Amino acid sequence: MIIVMKPGASKKNLKEVIDRIEELGYTPHIIHGETRNVIGAIGDERGKARLQYLEALVGVERVFPILRPYKLASIEVKDQKIGERSTFKVAEGVSIGGPKIAVMAGPCSVESRESLISIAREVKEMGASFLRGGAFKPRTSPYAFQGLEEEGLKILAEAREATGLPVVTEVVNPDDVDLVAGYVDMLQVGARNVQNFALLKRLGDVDKPILLKRGMMTTIEEFLMSAEYILASGNERVILCERGIRTFETATRNTLDISAIPVLKERTHLPVIVDPSHAAGHWQYVHSLSLAAIAAGADGLLIEVHSEPEIAICDGPQSLKPKKFKNLMEALKKVAEAVGREI
Ligand code: PEP
Ligand code: MN
Repeated sequence: MIIVMKPGASKKNLKEVIDRIEELGYTPHIIHGETRNVIGAIGDERGKARLQYLEALVGVERVFPILRPYKLASIEVKDQKIGERSTFKVAEGVSIGGPKIAVMAGPCSVESRESLISIAREVKEMGASFLRGGAFKPRTSPYAFQGLEEEGLKILAEAREATGLPVVTEVVNPDDVDLVAGYVDMLQVGARNVQNFALLKRLGDVDKPILLKRGMMTTIEEFLMSAEYILASGNERVILCERGIRTFETATRNTLDISAIPVLKERTHLPVIVDPSHAAGHWQYVHSLSLAAIAAGADGLLIEVHSEPEIAICDGPQSLKPKKFKNLMEALKKVAEAVGREI
């Protein structure tokens, strides 16, 4: 059930409602809003007192059920009359979901200190708002490079110091969550782990935003249910990332599902970004797909950039060289402006 507080409700009113929800055996989740707070009361109503009567408490505007299987991720928890959506602050001056498009750029994996710091400086200069780079790599082959692990995290933290760019990196193993969260600004769940429920639940207690990638064979509803796992485990800051799905087409590595952007925007208040690099698998298509994603309403992009893709340890063929990334940033400005956003 969703309990919508009145715009002027006090902290005391909010606490009374939360205490009541707990007494009745449900778990409350506060969703902070622009004009009013909303509480999701999660739990099976069978055999328990019904929540509808909370409408009688001071400060409560409305109590209603959400019929979709995902609740806290649903657009219905926000004030749809004013087009309210979630915007998450990730670092000082850097948010995702607001008018500014977030561009996350960097190599597939952290390869060395020198190469990462040099690419971080270049992408920052060209207008990227985040540095990306993998330290723990979920590779299809057990014989492929698995990442520099903690050494890679240290290099990412150094690159943040050197450039001021917040850093996003993937966490693969639930046991490494605290380690990774200690070094970076945002934790990524990769496509292959989108339904690793133990990992998703573990990320619920992290005080860092989570970038959740859609699996290559995950429906939009399943994707939102995965986001719901993180939200229901206590972490409000989830950013969704469409990164291509598996289809019969072989010309690209995956097929970028552009439709997912408006569909997700219709169903969830969470920010939606797009990774055209892993979708395309070839750098030649990354430019057009990025423009299409922003035109379709995405809140950001995740783009692989490498100074020497020919010798990249991982995903060289889909990585843009810095000069191509610069051209892309120029082109994106125009598209962003056309759809009322900035970059
Ligand atoms: C990545 O971002 O480096 C990555 C491995 O992507 P995905 O999980 O989408 O394949
Ligand atoms: Mn990659």
